[in-house]
Amino acid sequence: MINVTKTFLPEQTEYQTILKRAWDTGWMTNRGVLVQELESKLKAHLEVPNIIATTNGTLPLQIAIKALGITGEVITTPFSYVATTSSIVWEGCTPVFVDIHPEYLTIDETKIEAAITPKTSAILATHVFGNPCAVEAIEKIAKQYNLKVIYDAAHCFGLRYNDRSIFEYGDVSTCSFHATKLFHTGEGGALITKDTQLHDALFQHHNFGHNGPEAFHGVGLNAKMSEPQAAMGLAVLPYMAEIIAARKVITVQYNMAFKDTSLTLLKLRPDTQWNYAYYPVVFKEEAQLLQVQARLNQAHIFPRRYFFPSLNTLDYVTAKVCPISESISKRVLCLPLYHGLSKEDVTKISSIIQQIL
Ligand SMILES: *Cc1c(COP(=O)(O)O)cnc(C)c1O
Repeated sequence: MINVTKTFLPEQTEYQTILKRAWDTGWMTNRGVLVQELESKLKAHLEVPNIIATTNGTLPLQIAIKALGITGEVITTPFSYVATTSSIVWEGCTPVFVDIHPEYLTIDETKIEAAITPKTSAILATHVFGNPCAVEAIEKIAKQYNLKVIYDAAHCFGLRYNDRSIFEYGDVSTCSFHATKLFHTGEGGALITKDTQLHDALFQHHNFGHNGPEAFHGVGLNAKMSEPQAAMGLAVLPYMAEIIAARKVITVQYNMAFKDTSLTLLKLRPDTQWNYAYYPVVFKEEAQLLQVQARLNQAHIFPRRYFFPSLNTLDYVTAKVCPISESISKRVLCLPLYHGLSKEDVTKISSIIQQIL
């Protein structure tokens, strides 16, 4: 069986050797030695000034909204994973959807201003598939209208834009280290900000609002990463260059196979040093996508409809038409892409698709 992705696992003994260090201390969570070591290695690896490891990639979105004091309306993208929208609603804010750019698939920055009202307090956008949003234009709008900016950078491990980590943009960036993501800790995630004061607020919020053992500052929740999660991260991190290189080879092979076909491939924003996080293809019609999906499934190959449905159509949000996102959501399929996927399998997947196009 071939799935859209396969979790990279190091040798079990490598994981055990690292985990043993936590075992020996008897300390399984509350920011033990492994979490602290993972954070310091991630800071160096990603070239970011600060990082807070968290237990998943969804709570960081909620914490960022809370710590930035965001209320009222949040301008957001309809083309992302559901957590981008649900975290806004969970925090008692109202998502206001702005349609996406037809090629980059990120929020269309030229349509943001028209969606701003006196109630707007923030923009929460996703660098979807690791394609950076129009960060410069968004920063300009945010400054002009005094809005906070949060980037859902769940797909952006190791991604660089304009020779800087993509995590440096916006007030806060969040990442996911879920087992289906490029870098993983089983479940996990991170909060990143350059602002040290904000970093302290995020830090307190991720640990119940603790400000010392018996002091509390603000309403917190518990998003701490545990030691077994950090052990997995420390075991996987040394392989990241190899993992990304292997994904690049597969991506190049798919690109060659689909270059003269009716499929639309992901167009990266210029100046992006990509991380090969996903391989999305856009079909001309949904019917063709369904046909391809059925044929691949028969061959025990399971691509995923990332991202479907368009989030503006969720039943708990105020309906707003986003024609581009709705159209692309119906026609986009992410093909299998992972370290260890063989050249033969990529050939097989590509030829099944080519036969239907
Ligand atoms: C995976 C993902 C999340 C959620 O991350 P978890 O670690 O699964 O909680 C949020 N946003 C996007 C865009 C994602 O792809």
